Amino acid sequence: WLTLPNPWDVPVDICADERVPLEPAAVDEALSVLETAETLARLAEAMPGHDGPAPRITRMVLTPDFHKGAGIPIGTVVETEGALLPQAVGNDVNCGMRLEVTSLTVDEVRPRLDALERRLRHLFFEGGRRIALTAVQREALLREGLPGLLLSGDTPWQGYQPTDADDCLDRMHAPALPAGTADAFADWIESAGGAGAASHDSVIGGIGGGNHFVELQYVARVHDAAAAYAWGLAPGAVVLMAHSGSLSLGHQANATALDRLRRTWPAGLPRPRNGILPFLLGGGPDDGLRRYLDAFGNAANFAAGNRFFLALTMRAGLAAECGQLTARLIYDAPHNLFWRDGDRVVHRKGATPSGGHEEMAGGPYAMWGEPVIVPGSMGASSYLLRGHGNPRTLASACHGAGRRVPRGAAARASDDELDAFLREFRVVTPLDHRDPTVARRGDVMAARRRDLKEEAPWAYKDIGPVVSSLHAGAVAAPVAELRPLLTVKG
Ligand code: 5GP
Ligand code: MN
Ligand code: MN
Repeated sequence: WLTLPNPWDVPVDICADERVPLEPAAVDEALSVLETAETLARLAEAMPGHDGPAPRITRMVLTPDFHKGAGIPIGTVVETEGALLPQAVGNDVNCGMRLEVTSLTVDEVRPRLDALERRLRHLFFEGGRRIALTAVQREALLREGLPGLLLSGDTPWQGYQPTDADDCLDRMHAPALPAGTADAFADWIESAGGAGAASHDSVIGGIGGGNHFVELQYVARVHDAAAAYAWGLAPGAVVLMAHSGSLSLGHQANATALDRLRRTWPAGLPRPRNGILPFLLGGGPDDGLRRYLDAFGNAANFAAGNRFFLALTMRAGLAAECGQLTARLIYDAPHNLFWRDGDRVVHRKGATPSGGHEEMAGGPYAMWGEPVIVPGSMGASSYLLRGHGNPRTLASACHGAGRRVPRGAAARASDDELDAFLREFRVVTPLDHRDPTVARRGDVMAARRRDLKEEAPWAYKDIGPVVSSLHAGAVAAPVAELRPLLTVKG
């Protein structure tokens, strides 16, 4: 544990093992976030109708994978009173990780990987998936979230059997998801059917670029036999992990909110140096805030739906190539979201909830704590842990190993390094790099290879010390180590 002293006397804790490198630029960035304490005080004075509590930052936590972001480090938890900071959530609203366990074993899937690779390329990138939501289903998804689509009487999604895990997620994340009017995304809702159907179909269920992925993994090691058993994770079991966000919807929600905050900034009040623009709560009816909450909730709901469809597409590929299977949701863990309880707001940007018995009371996770999903990279293990609800981290954990080097530096790896990696690990991309006709398209291949280098294991920190920091800091305890079998990268 490290505590970051600061002139504003905000408690700032960093949970990190000495082996995890701390980026000085990210520490500076974290300190500059605290300048918002001053912005909040001045803003409250400048707002004539403000009658809420004095807005303030009450606590900040940096997770072991924290690194420089655009104004606020990735891996930051900010707790405020009386204020909401859209930038403390990040642009990709409700980016997160969905984890499902299947009835297949690694020995059943490994011999089928060549065929599965071709099948998945077709399903994800060559028009092979059709997610034909009606306009009513689209609206239900945006307004009421995945339960709106899965649990409502007349439009349940075909063939999907919701479990108590689906139900629990609804309750856990509902405080973050105000029921929107869905007005901001009316064009997406209405695009079902008609000439535009095919192109709009491909919007939901897409992976998105860069670091987003759908991965098949298997349980390589069980660390906590009782919890693993309770969650259905036997050694050798194949699991699927989907990482995606709200595609363009979250960016749109944030851009609109920030634009509005800029335009309505009180005349005479200097713009904050750190660029962070807050909404004040309790300042009377604020149409800007209401619209933001609507659009934010809709984008967040879309993201959870997107991960669901990614998982469903992976299930379809497995069923076609490896035989009938059953799959069960373990958890869907958001890492770019805020949770509001009256005037208190917990914002997590690149950090994931890690609740314990207390936070999970009354649900299927009360006994073991909240499942915490910590991915490594496409060439390293990922971990499933169980949360302890540590108040020192505001019941939060890191959401990955975290980037070690910037994209540019990672892309400077040699072609030999990339080829060695691709011989050892199976990556499905829109192009088959082993296909000689594709390999002749030099420019396309070069761009694709650059993308892969940026996301290769050398770009990320070592997952081992990150997980042991969580364990040693009593944030979460490892349940199972998951090794990659195949990664689909957008
Ligand atoms: P984000 O992009 O949401 O900030 O971070 C996601 C985390 O996922 C990264 O910190 C990294 O540790 C991990 N990650 C990135 N790409 C992959 C991948 O292809 N497979 C797995 N298992 N993890 C990945
Ligand atoms: Mn994202
Ligand atoms: Mn993410």
